[in-house]
Amino acid sequence: MSTLNEVGERDAWRCWLCDEPVDPDASVNSARGPSVDSGASPKSKKAAAAVQRLAHRACNTRKGSVKPVVPWSPDLFVVEPAPIVTTVERLTRKGGREVVARCPSRAEAEKAAVWLVDRLSRFAPELAVATQVEAGGGQFLLVLRAV
Ligand SMILES: [Zn+2]
Repeated sequence: MSTLNEVGERDAWRCWLCDEPVDPDASVNSARGPSVDSGASPKSKKAAAAVQRLAHRACNTRKGSVKPVVPWSPDLFVVEPAPIVTTVERLTRKGGREVVARCPSRAEAEKAAVWLVDRLSRFAPELAVATQVEAGGGQFLLVLRAV
């Protein structure tokens, strides 16, 4: 199927939902096989219909008609992390800035910032963002800003 190959190539054979590699040679009927996810882009409704993303079949199925769940990395030390999908939608729509997580140290916050920007470069490539770490209340706030 040419669409699958085109979308797979463009997304570098990486699932946009779980961020894990997708095997292009796996059966499309297997859970870890490739599938094309359509119409769930956080961008505007008009453009969403045209945006297709590569996903594992299982990730795509689990998503169903509800919003995709994009998990924060378990390697990060973040307290009360914001839901990534909702935050991206809001920043895309309204711009501005949001506190997306609180961290116990500046180093942890910087690490989370680097991870988040990298993750968003694949999940929401159309949204340009910058991060900022701010000290407050004995913790460090990770701020995500639309630019
Ligand atoms: Zn996946």
